[in-house]
Amino acid sequence: MSDQSIIATNLANVRERIRNAALKAGRPADAVTLLPVSKTFGEDAIRAAVQAGQRRFGENKAQEIRSKYEPLADCGIDWVMIGHLQTNKAKDVARMASEIQSLDRMDLAVALDRRLQQEGRAIDALVQIKTSTEPSKYGLPPEELPGFLRQVARDMPTLRIRGLMTLAINVADQAAVRACFRTLRELRDQMREEAIEGIEMDRLSMGMSGDFEIAIEEGSSEVRIGTAIFGGRIYGDDYYWPEQPAARS
Ligand SMILES: *Cc1c(COP(=O)(O)O)cnc(C)c1O
Repeated sequence: MSDQSIIATNLANVRERIRNAALKAGRPADAVTLLPVSKTFGEDAIRAAVQAGQRRFGENKAQEIRSKYEPLADCGIDWVMIGHLQTNKAKDVARMASEIQSLDRMDLAVALDRRLQQEGRAIDALVQIKTSTEPSKYGLPPEELPGFLRQVARDMPTLRIRGLMTLAINVADQAAVRACFRTLRELRDQMREEAIEGIEMDRLSMGMSGDFEIAIEEGSSEVRIGTAIFGGRIYGDDYYWPEQPAARS
């Protein structure tokens, strides 16, 4: 099989698994959106996924969005930033991304808002929450979320908050993984009750290749999947789990 047909086949399999997991959880078959994560993969792989019907892609580095943006401009892709973003790279995301799911601190929100105002744009944003005790995990501590949301809603109209995102703990223990997803859903439910004006809490981005079925059981509205679509990456999980051994593969 060509790489192109492998990607099309993988996508079909992943979509089927997502539908089945939703049905099994008593949810509508189309309740969960797929966000393919194309980090480290090149133009051909992404074009294959576009041909197979995908239009949004997740990337975890601003430089990578920048390098793919022009060559793939004809595909009309919506780029979604899902990785830790330094404030000095906010400009690239403000220019080229349609959305950020890794909004995890106030100085980043301020930097993005300033750049977005300069660009005359507004983007959707999910707040990344730290749901595990792993010391290296990025994300806003849950207890800081209400204050964070109020400040963004009041001062930063270029960031349209739509929900929350998390990475579960990177261990084989499924109960520990599930607990992270449940924490995110419960936090979302609490924030809905607070009903902060200008803040929407409809989306929960949680679940990756190794754990998305658990995430769907726990209420995920969107799964971020790389490996199961594009194949293994040449580096290990420590690339986005700095200081953590790769425990799941
Ligand atoms: C790489 C990445 C994913 C996808 O991981 P896979 O295990 O390859 O599916 C999801 N979310 C984030 C934030 C990532 O960096």
